[in-house]
Amino acid sequence: CGIIARVGHDEATETLLSALENLEYRGYDSAGIAVQNGSGVKVQKCSGAVSELKSRLDDRLHGTVGIGHTRWSTHGPPTDENAHPHTDTVGDVAVVHNGVIDNHDELRAELREKGHVFDSDTDTEVIPHLINEHIERGIDAERAIRCAVDELEGSYAIAAIVDGEERVYAARKGSPLVLGLADGGWFLASDVPAFLEHTDEVIYLEDGDFVVLEPETYAITDLEGRPVERSTDTVDWDP
Ligand code: GLU
Repeated sequence: CGIIARVGHDEATETLLSALENLEYRGYDSAGIAVQNGSGVKVQKCSGAVSELKSRLDDRLHGTVGIGHTRWSTHGPPTDENAHPHTDTVGDVAVVHNGVIDNHDELRAELREKGHVFDSDTDTEVIPHLINEHIERGIDAERAIRCAVDELEGSYAIAAIVDGEERVYAARKGSPLVLGLADGGWFLASDVPAFLEHTDEVIYLEDGDFVVLEPETYAITDLEGRPVERSTDTVDWDP
C-alpha cells in the first residue's frame, strides 16, 4: 500500500526504512526493501511491521539505489514470501507494486511455459519475471521494463531496480506516485509524507508516466519514451 524509491549518493537503506515508517499511516500487513550495490540486488522482506523488518536487517543491505514497500495484500495472504519486493528467478530484477494486475493469471501461465518458477501467490510476481523475459531477448533493461509495463492490465504504481544499474524505473496507472527532488538525490513515493523531511519540491506523476531516475538526472516520458512536461510544486508544510 506504500512505495518508496531512492537514488542518490548516500546510503539508501536507513532512508528507505524511515520513509516506510512515514507511510505506516496508510495501513499495511508486510514490509520490505531491496538495494542494489554493484554485487547483486539484495532483498529483505517479511510479514508484520517495519520494526520487524528492521530487526531482520543484515549488513548485505548496502547501496545508494533502492526501493521499499508496505503491502496491503490483495492476492495471497500476508506471508514473508508474498511481501514485496519481488524478484525474477535469477534475482537481478526487483519490483515493488501497489495496485492489482488483472491479467496476472494469463501472464503467469505464459511465463511458466517458458520455464519461470514462482515463489509467491501474488499478482505482482509476474512483473519481475516478465522484465527478465524481455531482457533475455537481448534488449536493455529500460526497454524491457517499458515492454513489460505495456503488457500489464489493471492498476499499478511500480518501482524497479536492476542489478548493476544506478537507476530506479517507475510507472503508474491508477495508483498514486510522486517524485521528490532533494539535494543529493531523488525520491519516488506513493505519498509526500514518505520523504517530506528531505524535500518539499515535488512532481505529481500522472497515469501513463514512465520515470527513469539516476543520481544526477531524472527523465519523465510516456511509455513509448516521448518526453512529457510535468510542473514542480512546493508542498505546503503547514496545511
Ligand atoms: N496486489 C499486490 C499484492 O497483493 C499489491 C498490494 C498493495 O498494493 O500493497 O501483493
